Amino acid sequence: MNLLISISSLTSEAACFEQVRARRWADGVVCPHCKSHETIRRGKDDTQTERQRYQCKGCEKRFDDLTGTVFEGHHQPLKVWVLCLYLMSLNLSNQQIARELGLNKDDAQAMTEQLRQGIEKKNTCKPVWEC
Ligand SMILES: [Zn+2]
Repeated sequence: MNLLISISSLTSEAACFEQVRARRWADGVVCPHCKSHETIRRGKDDTQTERQRYQCKGCEKRFDDLTGTVFEGHHQPLKVWVLCLYLMSLNLSNQQIARELGLNKDDAQAMTEQLRQGIEKKNTCKPVWEC
């Protein structure tokens, strides 16, 4: 019996978005542009169906769960980023992370570098999800 379990198969995209929302919007949804709490939901992202979109009633700008975070604007699913963060916390090497997540080594390295920059910035300003 093969006991090698892929952590990726145990994790859903929906659960990862729940985690991000629970942390990022712990005190309610806030517009990243003008900091207004007056926002409305504007459906889900077309390609990432778990990604909630919002519109600010103050400045009328649109944003979503990942706007202004280190997870924004990448082709990898959110769960790959969240798992990458998790594996980094276990002190896995880029090579091990790449293997666990089925990435090539360059992608894994680029991701861990971005996450480290995001995490370091957290100390001077926002939570891990922002900056
Ligand atoms: Zn606004």
